[in-house]
Amino acid sequence: EEWKDRGAAVSLRKEVDAEGRTVIKSVKKGVRDFSFGRVLGEGSYSTVYLATDRQTLREYAVKVLEKKHIIKEKKIKYVNIEKNTLNRLTEHPGIVRLYYTFQDETSLYYVLDLCNGGELLGVLKKTGTFDVECTRFYGAQILDAMEYMHSRGVIHRDLKPENVLLDDQMHVKITDFGTAKLLPDPRDPRPQAPDMGQNGGQDEKKAASFVGTAEYVSPELLTDKSAGKPSDLWAFGCIIYQLLVGRPPFKAGTEYLTFQKIVNLEYEFPPGFPPAARDLVERCLVLDPSRRLTVEHIKNHEFFDGQMFGKELWRTKAPRLR
Ligand code: ATP
Repeated sequence: EEWKDRGAAVSLRKEVDAEGRTVIKSVKKGVRDFSFGRVLGEGSYSTVYLATDRQTLREYAVKVLEKKHIIKEKKIKYVNIEKNTLNRLTEHPGIVRLYYTFQDETSLYYVLDLCNGGELLGVLKKTGTFDVECTRFYGAQILDAMEYMHSRGVIHRDLKPENVLLDDQMHVKITDFGTAKLLPDPRDPRPQAPDMGQNGGQDEKKAASFVGTAEYVSPELLTDKSAGKPSDLWAFGCIIYQLLVGRPPFKAGTEYLTFQKIVNLEYEFPPGFPPAARDLVERCLVLDPSRRLTVEHIKNHEFFDGQMFGKELWRTKAPRLR
């Protein structure tokens, strides 16, 4: 019951019937419809494989989660959040798309967009730092994807360069929605029950507990355990800083010391940090979430002067990494 599949596992196929009429058939995909190739990566609860749809020859990344392990580690809730969230975010090029889900005796399978370019963190480690042009491009793609997910009532809560994957065009695909927070979908006309499970029925800003990664966690999460859209914008400020400097703004020997730096807004800009980027980062890394820049503000900030957003941005060729 816990693993019950809702939607997403079927594909539509056009067929011609005996009378020559075109009919649309829905076909449930399963493990046997894919041929599995090399391991792309491993997480704490999953192994991700390159896999090819035998029928279309299209390549995907298939995330395989072992049921026993998830139950043992009490991660059922996170697995379901990830699936429900991805099922809500299917219309944006900047978010890893979930095409099908299915299961067998032992495992759950998520068929995802293949991201051949690896993690943004890996690319950043290779180059050390990004120049302003690259930072602007990747910042714009992350921001555009974030705007879409917020518009669909999703707060990521764990944005960081490891969770920004890159496809074969070196375009952004945001992943790892296991700790996302789902607000009522603003586009869903059905009345929605208050979300008692995740936030105790509090208003949209409340979250139950610490989730995320120490270096990117927002001060409001540490002080009043609340996370809303502004928390993702705090992380965005940390990412812009990191792309230009090569390390995140708040980093210390232990999680506790990192948290102390965050709540005290203790960070510095190295000499030569571009002034427009500095102004942007300073306006994202604001302790009071209500006074932080919004996505709309950031799009109009001088750092993004002349930058395209929306469809045009995703048609743009990625700049050479520098
Ligand atoms: P953890 O669960 O420990 O936090 P994780 O979130 O990175 O790890 P997964 O999402 O299962 O775990 O991913 C495991 C690895 O597989 C990633 O580090 C990444 O390198 C690779 N990977 C994940 N998704 C894709 C994808 N869509 N395309 C290509 N590689 C992927």
